[in-house]
Order: sequence, then structure tokens, then C-alpha cells
Amino acid sequence: MDAGPNRTCPICKSRFSIEEPGRDRFDVFCSGRCKMADLGHWFTDAYRIDGKPDPDSAPDSDFDQRA
Ligand SMILES: [Zn+2]
Repeated sequence: MDAGPNRTCPICKSRFSIEEPGRDRFDVFCSGRCKMADLGHWFTDAYRIDGKPDPDSAPDSDFDQRA
């Protein structure tokens, strides 16, 4: 049986298998991130997915200082 990637994500063009356990079989995207990115194309004017980061959930600054 061929269990390799059998789908191409329309957003990032990466190959993935839709047969993975836990994956939404109707989802044509490789990940929820790309799914949201696609939604963002439609609602870009009304709703920003990748807008300003939430200050309460942005621990990245800590890592930068320790590098
Ligand atoms: Zn993708």
C-alpha cells in the first residue's frame, strides 16, 4: 500500500497525506495554519488572522535575549 503523501497543499504547496490519523479527511490543506491562511484571503479586509500578536501570548522576546 502506498501511504506516502497524496495531496498537495494549495497554500504552501507542500505534499502531505490526507490519510493521517486525526486529520480531517475533507481538509485539502496540510495544516490548520494553511487552512486559516486560505480563509484569510477571503476575509482579509474584515478579519485579520495574522494581525498584531497578543502581548499576553508572545514569549518570543524571552528567547531572543537568551540567544
Ligand atoms: Zn500548507
